[in-house]
Amino acid sequence: MTTTGEERERGFDHTAIESHWQAAWEDADVFRIDDDAEDPEYVLAMFPYTSGSLHMGHVRNYTITDAFARFERMRGENVLHPMGWDSFGLPAENAAEERDTNPRDWTMQCIDSMREQLTEMGFGYDWEREIATCEPEYYQWNQWLFKRFREEGLVERQGAELNWCPSCETVLADEQVEEGEAPEGPHGDGGAVEVCWRCDTPIEHREMDQWFFTITDYAEELLAALDDLDGWPNNVREMQRNWIGKQEGASVAFEIPGYDEVDIFTTRLDTIYGATYFSLAPGHPVAQEIAEDNDEVAEYIEMAEQADEDDLDVTSGVFTGEYAVNPATGEEIPVYVADYVLTDVGTGALYAVPAHDDRDHEFAEAHDIDIVQVVEPTEDADVDPDDIDVQEAAYTEDGVLVNSGEYDGLHSEDARETFVDVFDGDHRTEYNLRDWGISRQRYWGTPIPMIHCDDCGFVEVPDEDLPVELPEFVHTTGNPLDAAEEWKHVECPDCGGDAVRETDTMDTFVDSSWYFLRYTSPDFEDAPFDTDRASDWMPVDQYVGGIEHAVMHLLYARFFTKVLDDGDLLDGVREPFTNLTNQGMVLGEDGHKMSKSRGNGVSPQRIIEEYGADTARLFIMEAAQPEKELAWSAEEVQSAHSFLQNVYRLADDYAAGAVATDEADDIADYVAREIDATAARATEEYEEFRFNHALQAVRELVSLLRRYEDATTPDAAVLERGITTAAKLLAPVAPHVGEEIWERLGHDGLMAEAEWPSAEAPEDYAVARRLVENTREDVRDIVDTVGIENPETITLAVAPEWKHRVVDVAREADNVVPAVMQNEDLQQYGEAAADFAKDLAGRAQYDETLSPAGERAALERAAWLVEREFDAEVVVQSAEAADESLAKKAEPGRPAIDIES
Ligand SMILES: [Zn+2]
Ligand SMILES: [Zn+2]
Repeated sequence: MTTTGEERERGFDHTAIESHWQAAWEDADVFRIDDDAEDPEYVLAMFPYTSGSLHMGHVRNYTITDAFARFERMRGENVLHPMGWDSFGLPAENAAEERDTNPRDWTMQCIDSMREQLTEMGFGYDWEREIATCEPEYYQWNQWLFKRFREEGLVERQGAELNWCPSCETVLADEQVEEGEAPEGPHGDGGAVEVCWRCDTPIEHREMDQWFFTITDYAEELLAALDDLDGWPNNVREMQRNWIGKQEGASVAFEIPGYDEVDIFTTRLDTIYGATYFSLAPGHPVAQEIAEDNDEVAEYIEMAEQADEDDLDVTSGVFTGEYAVNPATGEEIPVYVADYVLTDVGTGALYAVPAHDDRDHEFAEAHDIDIVQVVEPTEDADVDPDDIDVQEAAYTEDGVLVNSGEYDGLHSEDARETFVDVFDGDHRTEYNLRDWGISRQRYWGTPIPMIHCDDCGFVEVPDEDLPVELPEFVHTTGNPLDAAEEWKHVECPDCGGDAVRETDTMDTFVDSSWYFLRYTSPDFEDAPFDTDRASDWMPVDQYVGGIEHAVMHLLYARFFTKVLDDGDLLDGVREPFTNLTNQGMVLGEDGHKMSKSRGNGVSPQRIIEEYGADTARLFIMEAAQPEKELAWSAEEVQSAHSFLQNVYRLADDYAAGAVATDEADDIADYVAREIDATAARATEEYEEFRFNHALQAVRELVSLLRRYEDATTPDAAVLERGITTAAKLLAPVAPHVGEEIWERLGHDGLMAEAEWPSAEAPEDYAVARRLVENTREDVRDIVDTVGIENPETITLAVAPEWKHRVVDVAREADNVVPAVMQNEDLQQYGEAAADFAKDLAGRAQYDETLSPAGERAALERAAWLVEREFDAEVVVQSAEAADESLAKKAEPGRPAIDIES
């Protein structure tokens, strides 16, 4: 029984304990991992962009990894749980402009303040491994890797369409292009256009040469390996598959008299007889050639190159006056230049079949081109061929060929195969995946380590001259690196003549494509990382971050890993992340995404101040599974806080001797089993990232311990073990309170380093629990239906052993009643056995049950729960000891119940 005694100071004060334990963890180097640790559990959150403050999405993301890292550490694992800063990027340049500072100083301030916030949340990182991508010690390796990729033939100069401000005379990043008003006039219609962020001039598009990583060389492997990434969510794998966009088809040559033969790519070679026009992308060499003598085509190409890709609809195109010969029909079909044919997809040329392709159909209608059906549904299709009118809409399914000469009646699939030979084509695979353009016309990024010399062309900066460090920031309308005259002009490393540095910097996705490798050896000076250690420690076991990185970051990181492994910088690591979790969004209390405009945001800082980090962490982890959306709820935050106080007081009362205890009692056995079962269940849930289920188990255990104290004078050892277990199971999520309890109970050392509770559920636990729950349910039913006001004695009689044998026979038999009747051992029970067999005959399944002795023991252990619920005495009897009329109603797993009032 709880004895309140004198009023003592109750509850913990989060403002005092949290900073105390944070300092204690740091002093004890709890989160450090030795360089010689073997294959640690690598737990990683996507590193944050250095915006200056944490938002609730961050808090959720990092609570998940921190809880899991703490869980694994308590289980005795070596855990690598590092943190760093994705600290390059345009926002720092903007902030520097606004605040009249420079991107570096601003970023460093942001890092300091975010590091402090992470510490205040109680997140345990190995800060010795901290990295910041904007430091030359980090980005020099981007430059080094760029050169290694170039050696491997994975770097190319390719043309790319860029945003250009004609007034500022500079290239603009996509983020520097804003929506604005077009000027009224002969060309502008006054509608929305894209304008320069500085001067509001409508932007143009210019094709310029840029640096590219040829990720397309890895398209097939990046695609194929997705099948084996079992630890990734299916939706992310599917997004990557779609992004890579593999298409198997064929290429066939078309003749355009007067010009070179043109290769087309198609996935529908079966429709070639229906090709009624031919399309070239504006960038196709033959289109360019035609444009030389055709002003209309030249104008169209110029217009298309300047327009934004999304601006032109699928019917945009111009007839060239030329004709191509359809190799199937021998007919001449008109050649168009059309923007919807992308220069960089397939061959940049296609034959169009309006009858069987939606886009071609729309184009044909707009340009009054013939529509000829060459495929109709097969006999067993859902559609009647007579219902198909390709003049109205394209029929895009496979079927059988019509209007295809000698091939009429051939199935689409067979035709595709046959036609490759017939038309002298090739099987061909195309991907939607494009090479990765890494040039950015910005200051705050990694300088690309190239020098341009008029005589030698592009020359690499020699390794000994790396890093190419960023010059001082210059406030300018254009690219600050262009304005940094002294920095820009250098000697050509090859000929010693005047040369100019590359003034573009790298896409910041380069920084994040290998940062997880740098954590393994953050101070390594000979290479980006130590090959042996990285190969031992990789891959990351648990990677957690936002779904917005499903494609680019996660694909680029996979690409880098494969290239590094092929280049022997890694040894046998083909994939960077074994398990991936995308945490769901944190919504405001109104169920909408937190945003400034809605004013529904909650600042982590405020919650820490008001309730403490543990409360925030517990609320977040209890409210939903990691991948689900989570809505903020002041009420549930309060409930999380009350629960933590409740657990703390449970421990505090016990430690203060405010709970009278004894050595043994008849409930102790029940509680002891529940403690073990809770540890087993919580452990399994933690392993599966179902933290909310684990925490539910802890809440149930705490509630049980409270009832235990109320019901009897508890066994000291069992009660203390229960409190300790609950606190340990809670500690990964609420680590400060965990430590406070650990200390209060008189333990030395830190709970963060204590041993995780052993996680063996008692034998037959689940079966015994089901027996008890079913029995309690049955007692409730009887009390309710019969309307018993004051039950005095509840007698529970378990089934005799022979009934268990009947169930065993029934379980094996197809025909229950005869099987039981013919069983020699059971014949002595005569009619009773027959009746019971009849009862069983209709059942679909037989649950596992305990032995009669096991059932009695389970019911006796749980009798106190029934006694407390009904305020009645509970008697548990064997079948032999029970009244015959009662005993005969008992079944295995279902004791007979008698209630006296
Ligand atoms: Zn401008
Ligand atoms: Zn030179």
